[in-house]
Amino acid sequence: MKTYTALSEIQADLQNKQVSCVSLLDHYLGRIESSNLNAFLEVFDQSARAEAQRVDEKINAGTAGRLAGMVIGIKDNLCYKNHKVSASSKILEGFESIYTATAVQRLIDEDAIIIGRLNCDEFAMGSSNENSAFEPVKNPVNLEYVPGGSSGGSAAAVKAGLCLATLGSDTGGSIRQPASFCGVVGFKPTYGRISRHGLIAYASSFDQIGPFTHTVEDSALLYEIMAGTDEYDGTTSQKEVPAVTFNQDSGKKKIAVIKDCIEREGIDPEVKAKTLSTIEALKNEGHTVEMVDFPFLDHMVPCYYVITTAEASSNLARYDGVHYGYRSPDAVDVESTYVMSRSEGFGEEVKRRIMLGTFVLSAGYYDAYFTKAQKVRRIIRDRSDEILADYDFMLTPTTPTTSFKIGENVDDPITMYLQDIFTVQANLAGLPAISLPMGEHSNGLPFGIQLMGSRFEESALLSFAQQLMNN
Ligand code: GLN
Repeated sequence: MKTYTALSEIQADLQNKQVSCVSLLDHYLGRIESSNLNAFLEVFDQSARAEAQRVDEKINAGTAGRLAGMVIGIKDNLCYKNHKVSASSKILEGFESIYTATAVQRLIDEDAIIIGRLNCDEFAMGSSNENSAFEPVKNPVNLEYVPGGSSGGSAAAVKAGLCLATLGSDTGGSIRQPASFCGVVGFKPTYGRISRHGLIAYASSFDQIGPFTHTVEDSALLYEIMAGTDEYDGTTSQKEVPAVTFNQDSGKKKIAVIKDCIEREGIDPEVKAKTLSTIEALKNEGHTVEMVDFPFLDHMVPCYYVITTAEASSNLARYDGVHYGYRSPDAVDVESTYVMSRSEGFGEEVKRRIMLGTFVLSAGYYDAYFTKAQKVRRIIRDRSDEILADYDFMLTPTTPTTSFKIGENVDDPITMYLQDIFTVQANLAGLPAISLPMGEHSNGLPFGIQLMGSRFEESALLSFAQQLMNN
């Protein structure tokens, strides 16, 4: 079967009967079976086959939805009724969802087929997929390298053609950084645009679901279908979701480039060169591109880690060995049930973050850390808004470097945290941001360029991103 990289190609072949949903599904199941990436934790072959048959019937009857033919993998932190979900954690091993995430349900309602659940960092905490309780994912471009994280399985599966598109979640870069490392499109919409109902919480004021695809058009379609208010998530916006339009001249744009992202030490020279040549190309097309000051780069990662660990320590309190999930077989009373189940069930990084989050929320340190970080977040948000009042978009590299080797940074949490230096701004400020595969390094690995837009202006961001990518 030919390798598809866009839904439009699949739908054309479905129409002229060159393929069926069942044959497509078999193709992908075969590819997953023979792949050695460890991207999928489980394939849902039975339910996916039943869905594929149902969608084929709808195609024949002329009643198929907009996503007919789209085979999707979901990150293992998204609930799908009667299917397992574990957040790649031992503490939830064997747990089955009792309802379906709103985002996933909306895709199914348009006839997407959910093929399985994808490996990730435990509870979406990490930048390399090495924090999974079920072994790391490998980068399909070079198997010795990490695919990025936390949605590493989601990025790797799209790149390797194990399904057409995937869903991930992005709290500080978990969609965009792996998209950059694997060479695919990764899109994080505005905070509150897509319901978090059925997404296992990490840091609730940051978490956002988004797609991985080969093309901006497919990301836009998935986004449009998932977006919009939801009665099960009070933080979803009531705003209309305007349709994204492509290939229309939307005029010349003003783009801000954060000076520090280009000039700071540690950025790979080839990533820098590609970012600069992209800027030149944009200028040659008549867009205005200017360097702007944003002197908060060094504050963003600490601010992010104080607030997200605080929120995580509260969100993860529910895994106590009582309600659901893992319970230590050696527990003898309430106290030991809590202590032993959590100590044995959570991985190292998750425990580190729960401790850090509990510390910054403790009475004696609350003001010094948590309150202070909230204030810093406000400043970052305000300054980002100020820039976006003058400019249409902000542009940065997605990550300072290309992927690193599996094992290379596991003992160095600080280096790992600095992976997020360019991506956390969008989460701290709640802005939509996309990573586009824009380069290949001489080391053979891909890397991305990030565009950030104004809150709820996804349409403008996506149509410009498509132009940039197709140039
Ligand atoms: N790498 C970041 C972290 O470890 C981002 C994770 C995410 O976006 N879920 O927190």
